[in-house]
Amino acid sequence: MDATQAELLALADQVLVKNYRSQQIVLDRGQGCELWDADGKRYLDMTAGIAVCGLGHCHPGFTARVTEQLGKLVHVSNLYLNRQQILAAQAIIERSFAKRVFFCNSGAEANEAALKIARRYQAIVAGAPERTTVVSTLGSFHGRTIASVSITGEPKYHEGFGPLFGPVNLIPYGDLEAATRALESRTACCMIIEPIQAEGGIVVPPPGYLAGLRQLCSDTGTVLIFDEVQTGIGRTGKMFGHQHDNVFPDIMTLAKGLAGGIPIGAVACTEQTAQGLALQAGGPVPHGSTFGGNPLACAAALAMLDIIDKDRLLDRVTESGNYLGGKLAELVAELPGRVVDARGRGLLRGIAIAGSPLEVITKCRERGVLLSIAGSKVVRFAPPYIVERHDLDEAVSVLRGVLVDAMPA
Ligand SMILES: *Cc1c(COP(=O)(O)O)cnc(C)c1O
Repeated sequence: MDATQAELLALADQVLVKNYRSQQIVLDRGQGCELWDADGKRYLDMTAGIAVCGLGHCHPGFTARVTEQLGKLVHVSNLYLNRQQILAAQAIIERSFAKRVFFCNSGAEANEAALKIARRYQAIVAGAPERTTVVSTLGSFHGRTIASVSITGEPKYHEGFGPLFGPVNLIPYGDLEAATRALESRTACCMIIEPIQAEGGIVVPPPGYLAGLRQLCSDTGTVLIFDEVQTGIGRTGKMFGHQHDNVFPDIMTLAKGLAGGIPIGAVACTEQTAQGLALQAGGPVPHGSTFGGNPLACAAALAMLDIIDKDRLLDRVTESGNYLGGKLAELVAELPGRVVDARGRGLLRGIAIAGSPLEVITKCRERGVLLSIAGSKVVRFAPPYIVERHDLDEAVSVLRGVLVDAMPA
């Protein structure tokens, strides 16, 4: 007989490193926006694996395509090229400003590669090897490797890990004057920024901010990197978060939503910045990844991008996002004092609450709705793109009940 949930939780306590604050359920099965735990209890999923599973769980078309690839070819390494990698790069390029793509396996790795590109671009292409500083923003999240965590603007993620990668200059998000001061000395190789700060609390920048950064970076020869790991691949209702602002970076990093739940990362670059990672005659391979660009992950990315187009999911994200945004705004109006504000774009939404978000999402989970936390005060909604209105109604109604019961005004 299969182990029960209680047995699995006890085993987890013995065998896993205790780094996570996971909700104490063991998930076993999913379909669409629903998940079931090891005891068969059903949950409505408003997290999509942290903005990853845009097609929900076990989407038939996606599953068929990935299964087909599993039966054909899974891994060959970059000693050789493979069909899926080439076609996936083309698919990203067709949908973006980019001219070249490098594949890796996660968001942190994509940001690592982007930093290496920016530094080596300055050193080898621009002839400015002294430009090594990375400008990033307070409240940002860029990953957990030593460099990506060092450019993450949250001191709590740095504790115990020093010495960090540097130099890093952390400036306030949304503040163009601070960016001007940081960039005008031309000591930075790059500026990295999320089009919406996601982990930091679903913070949407003021209008004109990204365009202002674009201008500053162009004027000072600084490589502009948009970290689209969470905002990319349709999450905000456009293919990439920066398309709401009509500005283009030099480099964009992708991961979470790109392959529908199969691990992947990608760095999409202009022709010029791509030279930062190009081979030099007789030189070593400047950067690489054993798994990066593997046929399975790239087939999954191709399937994801195809299905987004065929099923017109960007329109659906915009419509459902507006609907959810309206429902969350109603909560703010109805529960002042408990709910501070509602924000976000598309299906990346948050409400800032007065109480403990951990307590709120735990109670919601007990009542069958999975939500996550962003920042210290925000309950995040990042459901699959295929979410239906009745799912959003159910989730908001459970959240409302918890806010009313758990947080006396
Ligand atoms: C999740 C996230 C990362 C890190 O991605 P991993 O795949 O966990 O390494 C980086 N940047 C942003 C904006 C993210 O949301």
